[in-house]
Amino acid sequence: MNLCTRTEHCLTEYTTVSPEETRALGERLAGKLSRGSVIALKGGLGAGKTCLVKGIARGLGITESVTSPTYTIISEYNVRLGEQTVPLYHIDAYRLNGDEDFENTGAGELIGGKEGRGMGIIEWSERIPRSIPPHAITIEIEITGPQSRLFRVYDEPACH
Ligand code: ADP
Ligand code: MG
Repeated sequence: MNLCTRTEHCLTEYTTVSPEETRALGERLAGKLSRGSVIALKGGLGAGKTCLVKGIARGLGITESVTSPTYTIISEYNVRLGEQTVPLYHIDAYRLNGDEDFENTGAGELIGGKEGRGMGIIEWSERIPRSIPPHAITIEIEITGPQSRLFRVYDEPACH
């Protein structure tokens, strides 16, 4: 389903029925990313946020194993984009106490989306709503069965 207007984010829905399918979806979504891209992930514990990030990382050519930075808050990986290497910041806001707490970590500067910055993927983005830049792709994940997950992807307006 695609509900696109020029002024609102486009909604595309995907259903997966296994963790591997979720990783494959992540791999496919990685193709949308470039320098400055931000992905904001919403969905409770066990929704599949980290699983999706593993797939995105695979799609970006990251060979290191990706785990949720629950305690460290932020992990950094290097992504080869053509001739350049750009950082990918994987952030887990679960243990953060809101936007101010996030700002105090200094990580806010990393995902401002300004020229020259890297990419950002934020788990539990609903905990830091004011820190998510407007150009972010928001993905809401809903648990629809033991192995099934619904992904609502709100892409940038110019998505097609
Ligand atoms: P989160 O980061 O949202 O807390 P994880 O990705 O760490 O979630 O964990 C998702 C859990 O759900 C894993 O145990 C995984 O095996 C399970 N799971 C079952 N079906 C799926 C699916 N379709 N997609 C992703 N994870 C799934
Ligand atoms: Mg997680």
